Amino acid sequence: METQLQEAIDWPDTEIESSRQNLWDTVRGMLDDVALRLELDPGIHAILRQPERELTVSVPVVMDDGHIRVFTGYRIQHSSARGPCKGGIRYHPAVDTDEVRALAALMTLKCAVVDIPYGGAKGGVQCDPTQMSQDEVCRMTRRFAAMIMPIIGSRRDIPAPDVNTNAQTMAWFADTVSMLEGKTTMDIVTGKPIPLGGSLGRKEATGRGVAIVTHELLKRTGRDLDQTTVAVQGYGNVGSSAATILDHMGCKVTAVSDVSGGVYSGNGLDIANINRHVANHPKGLLEGYEAPGVEKISNDELLTSEADLLVPAALEHQIRADNAPDIRAKMIVEGANGPTTPAADEILRDRDIIVVPDILANAGGVVVSYFEWVQDLQFFFWEEEEVNRNLRRIMVNSFKNVWEYSRQHEVPLRMGAYMLAVEKVAGAIHYRGMFP
Ligand code: GLU
Repeated sequence: METQLQEAIDWPDTEIESSRQNLWDTVRGMLDDVALRLELDPGIHAILRQPERELTVSVPVVMDDGHIRVFTGYRIQHSSARGPCKGGIRYHPAVDTDEVRALAALMTLKCAVVDIPYGGAKGGVQCDPTQMSQDEVCRMTRRFAAMIMPIIGSRRDIPAPDVNTNAQTMAWFADTVSMLEGKTTMDIVTGKPIPLGGSLGRKEATGRGVAIVTHELLKRTGRDLDQTTVAVQGYGNVGSSAATILDHMGCKVTAVSDVSGGVYSGNGLDIANINRHVANHPKGLLEGYEAPGVEKISNDELLTSEADLLVPAALEHQIRADNAPDIRAKMIVEGANGPTTPAADEILRDRDIIVVPDILANAGGVVVSYFEWVQDLQFFFWEEEEVNRNLRRIMVNSFKNVWEYSRQHEVPLRMGAYMLAVEKVAGAIHYRGMFP
């Protein structure tokens, strides 16, 4: 009986938690530093140190072989001070309360940096979707959607895709809510397929934002796109779009990697060819890619490979004190959320490596999510050119604001971005006043 129960319940994996540094500690540590520098009201500081609302749900799923497995799901709303909460849903074995809290807080700051009228939230289910069938993932998504429905809504909290979730996941999510509410509720999530009220340009938006920000950084540092080599860690939605767009813009992409390993070519990789390989791979991986002059490398080797610019676009805490001293890139643009530990950040700073922080660099996704939401609320849809033009405008302005603010206050870009964001959120809390 006990073993059966043990198998049925997907217990939160405490080993994963203890083996990695906690991202929530990292984000809270940054918030504390920022509060000190801004001489933030201690009450507002205390508000930001804690999420507004946390929901943990149990998600029972009938697996294909007929047995029941119970997963643990989360939706955490960090702040609704600036507007409805916004943030993705992640399916991954490392999802737990602290990870979701940290990612929710990063969403609050991200939406503030790019000045879109949202607060921050995040959700996730602790599971390994690579070991599940499409039907199992569909049933898990529908049950999870039903379980968190009491706290989400187009004026409350709007989920979106994140690691291991995509437009199809969002379609199941929106359909579940629509069925339960007895009305079409597509504005409940963003990142949907185009025929269901998704926005043109949303899929590539995070990668496009990374590329726009990279271009702005190169302009400021007096470099040309075609004289810049780039290594991209992670070849999911963000990494592959960033690599493809940077390649189109003229950069030489010398290394890319995913969970199956990486590939390197000092002369530049053929990104179009890699994309064809990934599209034909049953799991969408780089695994098995071969081409003349292309070497196989590990994920660790990618991070320290010869390149001018590094784009970490995988998971958190990939750049750590143990590998930061060996990083050869002079610039880092964070496509992932929280890819750098605080200790690594210090090492990079001492080595004069410029880091464009996640809350600015990867904000393109949520910016186009905002455009999708606006289009859904109006039932009026934009051309892709309009989406990309507005995305560009917001990313260029946000980069400029963070760059200038950081110069003015003589702080690194991460600190500048956090300070700007916290000022905005604190301002909103101040104006609203304390309810009741
Ligand atoms: N998951 C993405 C992020 O971390 C997008 C969130 C959204 O569009 O709401 O920024």
